[in-house]
Amino acid sequence: MIWNETMECMDREEMRKLQSIRLRRVVEHAYHNSPFYRKKMQELGVVPEDIQSIDDITKLPFTVKQDLRDNYPFGLLAVPMSEIVRLHASSGTTGKPIVVGYTRRDLGIWAECVSRVLTAGGITKNDSVQVSYGYGLFTGGLGVHDGVQNIGGTVIPMSSGNTQKQIQLMHDFGAKALACTPSYALYLAETIHNSGIPLEEFQLRAGFFGAEPWTENMRKELEEKMHIKAYDIYGLTEISGPGVGGECECQNGTHLWEDHFFPEIVDPKTLQPVAPGETGELVFTTLTKEGMPMLRYRTRDLTHLIYEKCECGRTAVRMGRIMGRSDDMLIIRGVNVFPSQVESIILELPEFEAHYLIVVDRVNNTDTFQIQVEVRPEYYSDEMNKMLALKKKITDRIQSVIGLKPDIRIVEPRSIERSMGKAKHVIDNRKLV
Ligand code: ADP
Ligand code: ZN
Repeated sequence: MIWNETMECMDREEMRKLQSIRLRRVVEHAYHNSPFYRKKMQELGVVPEDIQSIDDITKLPFTVKQDLRDNYPFGLLAVPMSEIVRLHASSGTTGKPIVVGYTRRDLGIWAECVSRVLTAGGITKNDSVQVSYGYGLFTGGLGVHDGVQNIGGTVIPMSSGNTQKQIQLMHDFGAKALACTPSYALYLAETIHNSGIPLEEFQLRAGFFGAEPWTENMRKELEEKMHIKAYDIYGLTEISGPGVGGECECQNGTHLWEDHFFPEIVDPKTLQPVAPGETGELVFTTLTKEGMPMLRYRTRDLTHLIYEKCECGRTAVRMGRIMGRSDDMLIIRGVNVFPSQVESIILELPEFEAHYLIVVDRVNNTDTFQIQVEVRPEYYSDEMNKMLALKKKITDRIQSVIGLKPDIRIVEPRSIERSMGKAKHVIDNRKLV
């Protein structure tokens, strides 16, 4: 099912024309109503008239998270405060929070985008969706909430936490879909399993998981554990929130709603566009945002774009899985390590759960690379040699894929702290010295 066929399936040439018109408009708006952007453009010697088509986007300045911090709280708003109807702030996984403001129209467009994602995942007005993303300043809860209401579905505004009650109400209310982080979904799946309520008594058939990187193996795991289809939903506070893009039934890339958010991929070092299809840093320009337009915002997310038409019929560009954030990449003894690589390997091995913690430190000027990982109850044993064999298996596997020998600590089932929001998978103690 398609929510907005005109926009989601538009001919690519037509889309570029629309993007060009909208880019001109947003650049005018930013230049005239945001002192921040006027200054940035003046520094580059660019005036709005220089931007005639979407191809001119590379003339525009980049925006980074630090710009939002430097202008805390309201310095980047481009409308008077009287036009702002809601504020959100980022969850601050990477430092001091940043603040964004939305006009009424911005909220409408955000709800439209989430509606596209829910519809692509088969949700209609007849379905109820349990929203277990945190409500509040974090965009996850209210963002998905508005999307469910916009399609006329029934929203169950659970927020995160209170895991036993989540399960009870999901069961009693017959929720058709669950929206939360993939790590919380895994925790909920375990809790369902331990509750003794048969899975068949739940009506859950879809999950909309995002707000943190996850892997194909994690998808398989969640689909098997909950008998659902697990869809990716992607977004970030600076651009609006969840629903900047989402997966369709093909589950083969995350469609980005490029009539509202224009994506580019650049080399994070040179900031030059990469060749089509190559991996680099994702950059967004908001094409319709009033409250806080963003020109060439550097997400730090590493991915690639797929421009071929999808089998679902949509032409909207697709994004490959986020490999991690360029600022999340660990460099351990000179080797680039992405937590997602570790997750993927752990999930390929049947003996382990997707609960893990990477601990990096520096001892005697050498980086240490420890991975704590939970063994599944059925593989847990008191016998030392069995555990040693398991340890060797995962050590060898990680060393062969990543090229670095990890110090594996196999820990007891259920001993790694469960996350209700974005999971913390890395502790890097090197930053402290
Ligand atoms: P913070 O920067 O504080 O984490 P946000 O809550 O706005 O703020 O998080 C946005 C970031 O979360 C994205 O830039 C991306 O790194 C990550 N993210 C969101 N959705 C997904 C997803 N579906 N897959 C991978 N990463 C995601
Ligand atoms: Zn598709």
